[in-house]
Amino acid sequence: MGRRFCVRCGVEEREDLPIIDGLCPKHFLQERKIIELPTKVFITVCPSCGSINIGNDWLPTDGSVPSVLETYINKALVKKRKIYPGFTNVKVRVKDIISDKAILEVVGKYNNVVLRQETQVYFEIRKKLCPRCSSVKNEFYEALIQIRTEGPPREEVFRRIAERVIKAHEFSDVVKIEESKEGVDLKFRSVSSARSIGSLLREEFSARIKQTWEDYGFVRGKKHGKLTISARVPSFLEGDIVEINGKLMVIEDIKNVGNFVFRDLETGKIKELKHDDLWIKGFKILTSKDYAVIKGRIINYEGGKAVVQASSGGIYYIRPSKMLDLGSEVKILIYKGKQYLLI
Ligand SMILES: [Zn+2]
Ligand SMILES: [Zn+2]
Repeated sequence: MGRRFCVRCGVEEREDLPIIDGLCPKHFLQERKIIELPTKVFITVCPSCGSINIGNDWLPTDGSVPSVLETYINKALVKKRKIYPGFTNVKVRVKDIISDKAILEVVGKYNNVVLRQETQVYFEIRKKLCPRCSSVKNEFYEALIQIRTEGPPREEVFRRIAERVIKAHEFSDVVKIEESKEGVDLKFRSVSSARSIGSLLREEFSARIKQTWEDYGFVRGKKHGKLTISARVPSFLEGDIVEINGKLMVIEDIKNVGNFVFRDLETGKIKELKHDDLWIKGFKILTSKDYAVIKGRIINYEGGKAVVQASSGGIYYIRPSKMLDLGSEVKILIYKGKQYLLI
């Protein structure tokens, strides 16, 4: 097998010194290019988010000139047909910017040997809002979700919803958030994102969803309607007392996706209720204004009922959800003239 030499300096090929088309790395880098780059590049950058336009896509950058240039050159220009045959892993890095000229370092592998070549490119940056930022700016939206609570609006309920919704990837489609005393309105750039968040609210927060289309009109020359999704979320938290079908229930778990877990205050039994069933049966979230709680002590059991002496002196006969020792201190909840033991 004949050895290969550099036609310029005569150096012999070695494992760490490939001969590329008759040239050693040093002479290759002097006479050829790892990548063919244009003399000047024109890049469109969104002044709001820093993303750059390549074809139909907008790719994120940090908005700085080196980041814009590196992203543009590596994503739009480093392509097989422009790379010298045999080179792989070609990457371009910006070394310096001198007014409208960028000094670049091109790194590429040839036969597992890394070669670096300095080159330069002139650039011109044009500014244009990307589609996402322009719709945010115009507050153009196709769909609105109105999140309201069934029962008093509670900060903790909204906090839990916010934490979850922000994590959903459709949240990036929100163009505006409006808060009011009654709840939160989220405006979405697209109907599909709003619908996904609506489903999420239904599945994970038991929201009752109603959709209405309104405002048929022309947007950008196309006939459009706006979708309003009303999402009504039960305003309850673990430990709350809820009246369902005339029965008092304590909420044990609301984080269980798909259903709620309740404990029947009278029987002590654990019940699961699907979201739709909850809305069909109807419910009322009780507040301390709706009921009274007094202290008492179990003094006897008679006919399956606990005989409870209230601290006020009254005697109550209450069906206990579990047996407690005589003398146990208990709390008595009185609602609509009926007593329950809070155990
Ligand atoms: Zn040479
Ligand atoms: Zn943008």
